[in-house]
Amino acid sequence: MTATKAQTRPTPQRTCVACGTTTNKRALIRIVRTADGIVADSTGKLAGRGAYVCGAGACWDEALTNGRLEHSLKAKLSADDANALRAYAATHSGGGQ
Ligand SMILES: [Zn+2]
Repeated sequence: MTATKAQTRPTPQRTCVACGTTTNKRALIRIVRTADGIVADSTGKLAGRGAYVCGAGACWDEALTNGRLEHSLKAKLSADDANALRAYAATHSGGGQ
């Protein structure tokens, strides 16, 4: 019979700022620098300079505490923003297992 030709559409690849893993964009959480600060972009549609962190809790710790995110976004991460991102990560990293 005929071989099924999978329509391979290249998936955008992004790199986690903490661990450096390059993976499917959808598996990463986008963080954007906006006029109001640094926020998690749950819709993927916010305009602005973006960085990506994978779902692992350790990567969020790394990104938020070691300045990796600030470096990548060239912006200062306020304590409020960091707290909001931690809260966001807590609900999206699957309970830190
Ligand atoms: Zn990572």
